[in-house]
Amino acid sequence: MTDRRGLLIILSSPSGAGKSTLARRLMAWDPTIRFSVSATTRAPRPGEVDGEHYHFLDEARFKTLVKEGGMLEHAHVFGNFYGSPKAAVQEAIDQGQDVLFDIDWQGAQQIRNSALGQHTLSIFLLPPSIRELHRRLRERGQDSDEVIAKRMQKSWDEISHWDGYDFVLVNEDLDATEAKLRAILTAARLRRSQQPDLTDHVRALQAEFEEMP
Ligand code: ADP
Ligand code: 5GP
Repeated sequence: MTDRRGLLIILSSPSGAGKSTLARRLMAWDPTIRFSVSATTRAPRPGEVDGEHYHFLDEARFKTLVKEGGMLEHAHVFGNFYGSPKAAVQEAIDQGQDVLFDIDWQGAQQIRNSALGQHTLSIFLLPPSIRELHRRLRERGQDSDEVIAKRMQKSWDEISHWDGYDFVLVNEDLDATEAKLRAILTAARLRRSQQPDLTDHVRALQAEFEEMP
């Protein structure tokens, strides 16, 4: 038994707004946070490691997993399938560990509406401007001009779902955004729903109260 239930921390944003960077920083700050390694049918990028950044699957295997109920959520993004495998998440939160998701708005919506919905903390990152979003995508240097153009085209679709999230941060200064993220997480961990032992504690306080002369 743990004194804390794990949170499902969802980070979404248009591509290039800073999700991966902030996810890395948050996990460096608190190494107990586990990253939900998504499954995807897209090809690995240079430097991406199977099982660490993603589980790279072919479409048939991905669809079988979905059919077997093995995905907490799944979506079609930029022409590929993406999904969050359920088993690892359930195990982590049962042990009181938080799980961080870098997923799009469709996945966020599905998790919020799932049985684990009450344990989610969803955060949306906005760029300071579209010009800056474009600059960050170019500067990241990971994608071809064609892929960057595709991501920019999709960015409005993602941004238009900003109002479905618990918190929205404009990621202008990286250190300031990280500090806000830490504060949000610290507060969310204290929600009543995340502290299953509170009922017992209050009962003990009541018993003590009643025994007082
Ligand atoms: P995402 O995961 O949302 O696609 P990344 O975390 O890969 O975005 O960030 C895209 C690029 O922008 C990276 O090169 C990253 O270093 C840079 N970046 C992220 N946040 C900021 C920020 N607040 N100011 C300047 N550059 C940033
Ligand atoms: P990328 O190909 O750049 O790694 O990711 C593309 C988009 O897919 C990002 O917006 C990312 O958040 C989203 N994504 C990654 N994994 C998942 C997932 O498991 N589920 C959903 N719904 N979206 C995901």
